[in-house]
Amino acid sequence: MIRTRFAPSPTGTLHIGSAHTALFNWLFARHHGGQFLIRIEDTDRERSKAEHTAAILEGLAWLGIHPDEPPIFQLTRQARHAEVAMQLLQSGHAYRCWCTPQELAAMREKAREEGRPPRYDGTWRDRDPAEAPAGVAPAIRLRAPREGSTVVDDLVQGRVEVANSELDDMIILRSDGTPTYLHAVVVDDHDMAITHVIRGDDHLTNTFRQAQVYDLMGWSRPHFAHVPLIHGADGAKLSKRHGATSVFEFRDQGYLPEALLNYLVRLGWGHGDAEILSVEEMIALFDVDGVGRAASRMDYAKLGHVNGVWLRRADDARLVAEVRERLPQIDPQKLAALMPALKERARTLVELAEAARFLIAPLEPMEAKAAALLTGETRALLGELTAVLVETDFTPGALDAALRAFAEAHGRKLGDVAQPLRAALTGRTTSPPIDATMAALGPAEVLGRIAALAS
Ligand code: GLU
Repeated sequence: MIRTRFAPSPTGTLHIGSAHTALFNWLFARHHGGQFLIRIEDTDRERSKAEHTAAILEGLAWLGIHPDEPPIFQLTRQARHAEVAMQLLQSGHAYRCWCTPQELAAMREKAREEGRPPRYDGTWRDRDPAEAPAGVAPAIRLRAPREGSTVVDDLVQGRVEVANSELDDMIILRSDGTPTYLHAVVVDDHDMAITHVIRGDDHLTNTFRQAQVYDLMGWSRPHFAHVPLIHGADGAKLSKRHGATSVFEFRDQGYLPEALLNYLVRLGWGHGDAEILSVEEMIALFDVDGVGRAASRMDYAKLGHVNGVWLRRADDARLVAEVRERLPQIDPQKLAALMPALKERARTLVELAEAARFLIAPLEPMEAKAAALLTGETRALLGELTAVLVETDFTPGALDAALRAFAEAHGRKLGDVAQPLRAALTGRTTSPPIDATMAALGPAEVLGRIAALAS
């Protein structure tokens, strides 16, 4: 059974890059009929906060990414992490190290002076524990192989290898008895029966040390897939400076979850030229062998385009509810009547709400261009139009015919009537088609707004 996991550190809300990782893990599990799990890596007591955990889970739920088992909290597993460290100690694959912080600092300093990377020099690897200084609590270090190399066959990066001489004996259990992060991850992934570790390629270098723990425990390693990170348009790591980065920001800016997922899946993965993919299609098509090695770039304009497509596909009733969340005073009937036209133009829910706002009242103040259309002459023309409108059925078809006939009778083009009318009704120069707009507003509102011009 394929089992994947998403293992966020709860130090902030759900970042778009993390959502991308979660999505790939979830799709991979779904595609293969496997299971997707969540592990909250909350061992950094300073930075981990319950509110961040809640925000991450809420962000995932909003995206529709649900785990198959309740989330596991890494902090609750410290006894188990220590137990495995003791097993490694007993089997001789780990040893106690009594180096003091001062000694370790001196070791690093010496390495720096000699132009070597700062690594643990193996002081206690073969030293007799009987020589241990009194009053110093030991840490436990992995007895990592010194010869040969550690090889990882990564599903995305291919075969990656590091000489074991490059890796020092990492601490797995600190002198205070707490596990180190790299050790905890291995124990948890093993115990959770994770078969595929799919994560950002910033974790690739960690993988060699993690692989050593698997090997020394005699555990079979999971498959690893290190996915390129998302960058900004300028190629730098995505940050606030580029635009929204948290899933909540995208939600608040009016992106639909299915659009965000659709956009994200195409970052680093593709299926031919297919641009618009539903969640069902993603599940059917996604696999790690389609994940590329090049870093992907966040393109906010493209996300807006994808969101527009999903807005147009979205159910009108759902969009009415979304707009009402943003504009509680809006009349739901009028909004529903105009939704098919409104959603044609919007790229986000925020834009959609903005475009619908005139249903409450014309824009105040009017757009300057709209105000400019309302001259003495056009106001008089609209006054005359009133006489026609009271006789007209308020359906788009009848209204369109009436406007055309009115314009012709006055020797004008349709636009010469429709534009000032639009300005009067909405306070702007753009809106859905004027006939649909009038039909949605209804006769009382339309006549009232025209009459208000005269006062
Ligand atoms: N907690 C790590 C992070 O948030 C993920 C570690 C992993 O996926 O192995 O970056």
